Amino acid sequence: MSNLFCRPREPAQLLIRGAHVLDPRVKLDEPLDVLIRDGQIAELGPPGSLAAPDGGETLEAAEKHLFPGFVDPHVHLRTPGQEYKENLETGTAAAAAGGFVAVIAMPNTEPTVDDATVLRSLIDAAEHQAHVPVGFLASITRGLQGQELTEMAELREAGALGFTDDGKPVQSAGMLRKALQYQRLCGGVLALHEEDPALSADGVMHEGAVSTRLGLAGIPCLSESTMISRDAALASYEAGRIHFQHVSCTESVEALRHAKENFALLSAEVTPHHLALTHEEVISLDSNFKMNPPLRAEDDRRALIAALIDGTIDCIATDHAPHAPHEKEVPFEEAPMGTTGLESAFGALYTELVLSDELELTTLIDRLTAGAALYGLPTPQIKPGEPANVCLIDLSARHQLGAGGYASRSQNCCFDGRTFSAKVVLTVAAGAVAFRERMLAPVSVPA
Ligand SMILES: [Zn+2]
Ligand SMILES: [Zn+2]
Repeated sequence: MSNLFCRPREPAQLLIRGAHVLDPRVKLDEPLDVLIRDGQIAELGPPGSLAAPDGGETLEAAEKHLFPGFVDPHVHLRTPGQEYKENLETGTAAAAAGGFVAVIAMPNTEPTVDDATVLRSLIDAAEHQAHVPVGFLASITRGLQGQELTEMAELREAGALGFTDDGKPVQSAGMLRKALQYQRLCGGVLALHEEDPALSADGVMHEGAVSTRLGLAGIPCLSESTMISRDAALASYEAGRIHFQHVSCTESVEALRHAKENFALLSAEVTPHHLALTHEEVISLDSNFKMNPPLRAEDDRRALIAALIDGTIDCIATDHAPHAPHEKEVPFEEAPMGTTGLESAFGALYTELVLSDELELTTLIDRLTAGAALYGLPTPQIKPGEPANVCLIDLSARHQLGAGGYASRSQNCCFDGRTFSAKVVLTVAAGAVAFRERMLAPVSVPA
């Protein structure tokens, strides 16, 4: 895949026998044998009909589900500069453990990915360390300072999939307008973290009944939705392509719905935590529930689910944001914003939304893979001739998240300790086995 980078790995030779294969895009929803040869999906057939490839192995998967591998368009891998939180190796191991076959890393690192030299060295590192393919966004403004545009054309040539100042909004409408004009020349997606700093001020959680009760400073929904309206208008005026990151509330969904009716080149993502949790969690004062945008109210959560179902929100992104224990284990007001998400995303969404009939499994699989196309990347499909990008999941493996530790270097997950009903047992990313549950023993390995 172009503009995705990964270390060289051994192509998989594997027969996955009898798993229930569900891929909404190719209209598969039935038990099948899936033969992976030389890292490619070679053949599909009725259960028991196919044989393992020469020198390969057979996995008995009758009780499990096989999905197209997930794509996460929003992760923080913390490298360069903050490798004590995460790095390319651990971050992509966490991705593989969560069923993700590709991730897109944010540029708010130290230094910021704001010039081609930094980007090239990051790409080089990914080509040596990444367990699953990684794509990179560069920043829109130098050092995320909002003052000066980066060399967008040069960064695109060096491999950037697009641009974002994530962590911060592009505060100046004039600056964003200029970025949209450059985008017309060099392409790539402008991904926006929408927030009006004047409205968010020193807020640490959602502004509402719970913040009032706790006496904590709140971040109003308007802080996000007013910026979405402004930037959708700018995108329309300049015919630019904008992707709205981590949409969190009813007002934003309404702004987005209205904007999308008038202008096509807009897309949006939502996180598992905004779909599954509300600000009620903050009553515990557990800093794992502190993130930006904050967990909102129940009616916001329901509006996000409705928007994900009707396509107003296009895809799911984790906003995987690792922090070290010494940073998170401080009073709530002082803790940094962010939760990890790669290893919990599917388990959380399946357990909290699919099993409670709030979301259909086919919709969940579609939205967990839809991020690829938004960035011009091929969408994983379970189809002969395609590179093998699949995840095998046991939908009846009850377990406690985090009980066996995490592949991520950080543990700050808002779902930590929850009982999930689904477990990823195997991930094949870009043709190679990237994750395998210890319990998943091969049934037959040729001598
Ligand atoms: Zn953000
Ligand atoms: Zn982020």
